[in-house]
Amino acid sequence: MNSDILEVIYTEEQIAKIVERLAKEVHHDYADTVPLVVCVLKGAVIFMTDFVRQYEGTLEMDFMDVSSYNGTESSGEVRIIKDLDASVKNRDVILLEDIVDTGATLKALTSLFRHRGANSVRIVSLFDKPSGRRVDISADYFGVTVPDKFIVGYGLDYNERYRNLPYIGVLKPEVYS
Ligand code: 5GP
Ligand code: MG
Ligand code: MG
Repeated sequence: MNSDILEVIYTEEQIAKIVERLAKEVHHDYADTVPLVVCVLKGAVIFMTDFVRQYEGTLEMDFMDVSSYNGTESSGEVRIIKDLDASVKNRDVILLEDIVDTGATLKALTSLFRHRGANSVRIVSLFDKPSGRRVDISADYFGVTVPDKFIVGYGLDYNERYRNLPYIGVLKPEVYS
């Protein structure tokens, strides 16, 4: 285990089961269409690669990079750093997120895609942190609820580090200082 990690909250095996369940649930609802699955970089990138391989149907993948976070504190703003390559017009868009905290990122992205003429927009989030919510939004598909702690691993970073951990953990307090 990485020596900066205090505690593991979800193991690699537990995450794999959650992702498999989400892929099945989503495919059940999208069996008649070819969705455009949008990965919100960089946090959802590991989730994306596992999710699409568990999805037993045809889909297209695209990537978008937005930023709303500095360190562990949400700035409340969403900035587009990299836009989609594909047009969302008349598409069934599935937004893949790592975690919904304040909800600001997803609120901004769903509004944007609807404005651009998407046929439908739904959100799949691996983690939900309801204690952080500041914007009235909820994912259509959730993996699991996490406590009011800053988590890292499986794509989630602290100042760009720890994204590569295959599990979800909490950092030792001294890592922040
Ligand atoms: P929002 O506050 O807009 O719902 O969340 C925006 C982004 O903040 C998430 O997609 C995620 O990248 C980051 N974030 C929120 N909570 C956590 C957390 O506990 N750990 C990490 N590493 N990132 C988080
Ligand atoms: Mg994210
Ligand atoms: Mg981050």
